[in-house]
Amino acid sequence: MARRPLLVAATLLGALTVAACGSAEGPADDRPSVVAALYPLAYAAEQVAGGSATVTGLTPPGIEPHDLELTAAQVAEIAQADLVLYVKGLQPAVDEAIAQQAADRALDVGEGLDLLVTGDATDPHVWLDPVNLASIGEAVATRLGEVDPDQAAAFAANADALAAQMITLDQEFTDGLATCATRDIVVSHAAFGYLADAYGLTQIGISGLSPDAEPSPARLREVADLVRATGTTTIYYETLVDPKVAQTVADETGAATAVLDPLEGLPEGATGDYASIMRANLATLIAGQGCS
Ligand SMILES: [Zn+2]
Repeated sequence: MARRPLLVAATLLGALTVAACGSAEGPADDRPSVVAALYPLAYAAEQVAGGSATVTGLTPPGIEPHDLELTAAQVAEIAQADLVLYVKGLQPAVDEAIAQQAADRALDVGEGLDLLVTGDATDPHVWLDPVNLASIGEAVATRLGEVDPDQAAAFAANADALAAQMITLDQEFTDGLATCATRDIVVSHAAFGYLADAYGLTQIGISGLSPDAEPSPARLREVADLVRATGTTTIYYETLVDPKVAQTVADETGAATAVLDPLEGLPEGATGDYASIMRANLATLIAGQGCS
């Protein structure tokens, strides 16, 4: 954008070089550029942009985002973006690149939300409460409107439309989970704190806030005891994390397993989006928790 003339000049030189190599790259795109650290933020940005900004995700489909490593090209994308969306504390490599390259152009979407604290760590999985995603959309619209004031009203209207969809989704969860045989949800890693908090469920994470740390044998025994004590019949595993930990607890207790998607990323070849996957999660919970 025009407010960084040196970068524009460098980009033009790059474009000339690319053109000389015969690339099919089109004319320069003068829409604001948004880089989103993970899928649900890209979804919010796309809904708010409505085609009037480019949105690039950092986490490819099929990749679990907690331990994302950035390529040099991705660091360059962060350095050149008009707006970078992330959740501080979720992805160390992203936090570091933003601190070095984009501190003044980044939006930590956790700002302005009521954050949950688990033990001594802040839970970064804010997007699993649809009401939070509505707030994130409004914050994105404000920042995008500062980048491109001509589109500010359109961004705000798109954010309002997203918020209306999220409020509908929230009501579906409230209604669907109102009356259940058990309100304890046993999940492979503790990604569902905001969802549990919003709908009166109690989360039991086999692993903690990050899926990387293998649970100890003592933790597996403890969770198996909780499964028996609470009458839990379904253990939830994820699309992007090895299901063996959840399967171990299921085998130990005789419980069934089902996919509950934390929406940290899309699986490869996914056809759904945030809203449809959340509705699939609701159907899974209604069946797994015995809700009527
Ligand atoms: Zn997670």
